[in-house]
Formats: sequence, C-alpha cells, structure tokens
Amino acid sequence: MSAAETTPVIGVFALQGDVREHLAALRAAGAEPREVRRPGELAECAALVIPGGESTTMSKLAHAFGLMEPLRERARAGMPVYGTCAGMIMLADKILDPRSGQETVGGIDMIVRRNAFGRQNESFEAALDFAGIDGGPVEGVFIRAPWVESTGAGVEVLASWDGHPVAVRQGRLLATAFHPELTGDHRVHALFTAMVRAAGDSGR
Ligand code: GLN
Repeated sequence: MSAAETTPVIGVFALQGDVREHLAALRAAGAEPREVRRPGELAECAALVIPGGESTTMSKLAHAFGLMEPLRERARAGMPVYGTCAGMIMLADKILDPRSGQETVGGIDMIVRRNAFGRQNESFEAALDFAGIDGGPVEGVFIRAPWVESTGAGVEVLASWDGHPVAVRQGRLLATAFHPELTGDHRVHALFTAMVRAAGDSGR
C-alpha cells in the first residue's frame, strides 16, 4: 500500500474537550480515530489530536491519568500532534498567563496568551488564508481563543488574524487557535492526516 492510501490510527485526547467532533472530522479526513484516556491507548496511536476545552483542566487530568509524561515523551520522539485552542495551549513551550500549577506538553517553541481576544470578542468567526491549504479561506471559529504572542525560529506561521499567528507548525506539531472540527470543512484534519502519513507509521 502506498503511503497515500494508509489509514493512520490517530488518537484524540479524550479526558476533556470537544472529542466527538474531532473523531468525526478525522474519520472524514481518512484516518482511524481512537479515544485516548490512558497511556496504553496512546501507545496504540501513530498520532494525537488535543481538542478544544479548558487547558488548565486538561493539564490536571493528564497528570491524574498518568498521561502527561507519555505525551511529552512521544511528542519529543516525533509523534505528530495537532492541538486546537486549549490543545494549542497544551503544545506551547510557554504560556504567558498560566493558572497556578498549569503545565503543558510543550514542543512548539512559542509563547501563547490564553483568552487573548478579550471579553467583547469571546467568540467570533473569521475567514483565514491558511498556507498549504488550497481551495479558498478556512473558516476559523474562535471560542475564548488564545493567540500566539511570539514564535522561535523553527516555527512556521500558517495563518494569522489581527496581526497575531493563529495557526502554526513546528516539524510534526500543528496547532490552531480556532476549531476546524466545528465547521464541517475537513481540510485542516486532512493536512494533519497527511503529516501523519508522511511521518510513515500507520500505528499498526
Ligand atoms: N480559554 C480556554 C483555555 O484557556 C480555551 C478555549 C477553547 O479551547 N475553546 O484553555
């Protein structure tokens, strides 16, 4: 089977957040999604999506379920990970305004500001030009979204809004401040699935 035809097993961090929407989007993008709550389930996946939700709660639960260290190890070892919104925060090496005790998986050399767009703009939609995605702008749904305050040299900015990066990639790690899993447009999940195929391990 050529790499383009494989159906990679992609986990969705399922302790908190909008898990079901990501499972559906991944399936539509040609992957085989699995819910991940325990280290053994993570071990069966070639890649992982960290959904939107609440990053402080995710951090606590990841510790409580023994997932934080395995996640860090796999990400360091080259497992592809895609984080949306709270998931983007989880992939940031640094958060500007963490709640006390809030830790991240890290891996993307960026500083992220939580709830950055402010109260009057808590949720909004914006059409985004997304580098590497053809077929017109991607509709970005932002819900109490973070933005990227600054990035290191190895980070590629794929989309920006209001002067701030809102989609970034560093190697096999992808993060968006918005929620493509909510729009029915599966192009970002397809991009991630292609990254997983290119990483060359179907997980089985
Ligand atoms: N504001 C949330 C956080 O800090 C993220 C919101 C979201 O994922 N929609 O984790």
